[in-house]
Amino acid sequence: MTFAIQPDEVLARLRTLRAERDAPTKGGRVLSYVYDPGVPELHHLVEEAALEVLHLNGLDPFVYGSLAVVEREIGQTMRSLLHGDDDVVSTCTSGGTESVILAVLAAREANPGRTRIVAPTTRHPAFAKAAHLLGMRLDVVPVTADGVADVDAFVAALDDDVALAVVSAPSYPHGVVDPIEAIAAACAERGIDVHVDACFGGMVLPFLPDVPAWDLAVPGVTSISADLHKYGYGPKGASVLLQRGQDRQRGMMFADADWPGYPVATSTLLGSRQAAGLVAAWAVLQSLGTVGFGELQGRCASIAAAIRATVEGIDGLRVIGEPVGVAIAIAADATSDSPVDPLRLGDALVARGFLAQAQPGLQQVGGPALPTTLHLTVTPALHAHLDELLAALVSTAESVRGVPAATGEAAAPLQALEGTTLDAATAGAILAQLGVEQLGTDRAELIAVIEATPRTVVHRLLVELLARELGD
Ligand SMILES: *Cc1c(COP(=O)(O)O)cnc(C)c1O
Repeated sequence: MTFAIQPDEVLARLRTLRAERDAPTKGGRVLSYVYDPGVPELHHLVEEAALEVLHLNGLDPFVYGSLAVVEREIGQTMRSLLHGDDDVVSTCTSGGTESVILAVLAAREANPGRTRIVAPTTRHPAFAKAAHLLGMRLDVVPVTADGVADVDAFVAALDDDVALAVVSAPSYPHGVVDPIEAIAAACAERGIDVHVDACFGGMVLPFLPDVPAWDLAVPGVTSISADLHKYGYGPKGASVLLQRGQDRQRGMMFADADWPGYPVATSTLLGSRQAAGLVAAWAVLQSLGTVGFGELQGRCASIAAAIRATVEGIDGLRVIGEPVGVAIAIAADATSDSPVDPLRLGDALVARGFLAQAQPGLQQVGGPALPTTLHLTVTPALHAHLDELLAALVSTAESVRGVPAATGEAAAPLQALEGTTLDAATAGAILAQLGVEQLGTDRAELIAVIEATPRTVVHRLLVELLARELGD
């Protein structure tokens, strides 16, 4: 066989790239994106299971029948975990975004003529993407200062053109659960479908004590999404959408036999698809069972409680709302004489080996302004470094106390661009002018620029930044 480059050399280069460019995927010090159970046997199980099915095509479960069994068993497990009756059906997808797009598609097909989605400010961007792709309108209603949907504002936005109401369990930015029973009851009265976005917490909340009803046990909830590639500890590529009613699910599926090729029927957005994520997540579900999950998720909750207690003990910082135990958002305590800027805190934590996520503040229409926050997603692996993190929070808060928040003044000239169309060359020139490459290491300043830039312009610049990172 003639190779342009020997396979070993390609692999060596890949390993170098990983070492030089990637954040760690294990160890719990990256406080977003990756979910490490911190259990070597599970790492091994996931890797072996994924490798076992790496080359099969998930497009056709009639040809690759192991996937049909896996999808069915994931569905049974999730239906019982999330309190679905016999009329609840399951669809396995490649991730939360795909589950959300399919839930919106199902609602659109089940509610002809209805074109609106109503969701709180804290809804995941996947709903904006779904609305954009599916020709729907996303109407955002405010959350309270505690980060949960404002029930009165939500109900006021409901009308007979709403195809789907959306709530989160919990929301990603603040880790707080929306008032699901109240909103679902109001929607049920009006005949409006309700989706619970439990992509983040769907595998955690069932194992925590004292969580108010939030899943398919709540009357009026018509669909729910839960990611297995987050707190299900599978590798990326695994999520589940549960829906009430076979016909709702069938309406979202697709078939085409109107070509001279093989007759096609698909349950999700993709054609040929990788099954490794789902199969590995299934392996974890099977192996851990409810007792094993209970142990790991309990560990997350106690880590989150310890972080919360520490933050609340630091003058100048506060935690948003009542997080349920997977994620925490830290804000400056404006009532303190010496508030601490959470993004300065986040930048200082990087030097201590902890990567928390910077979140811009947001001025809501008809609701309180949401502050700039630092987001921490906690995972069981963080347990090994918890004392170190708690000590780092205390000492970095002291080291950045008094450092003023970033101003975002570089964004001032961008105000005039609101609503204008920017081509790639112009957007690239603006990024260069902003000095985004330098800003990248000063996340506080970068987030301040994002806060201060008109939304349409921010969206265009984010696209440009990504396009240039991935190509040219
Ligand atoms: C992660 C997440 C999603 C989207 O999931 P992806 O797997 O990243 O596509 C949707 N909603 C919430 C609340 C999430 O946390």
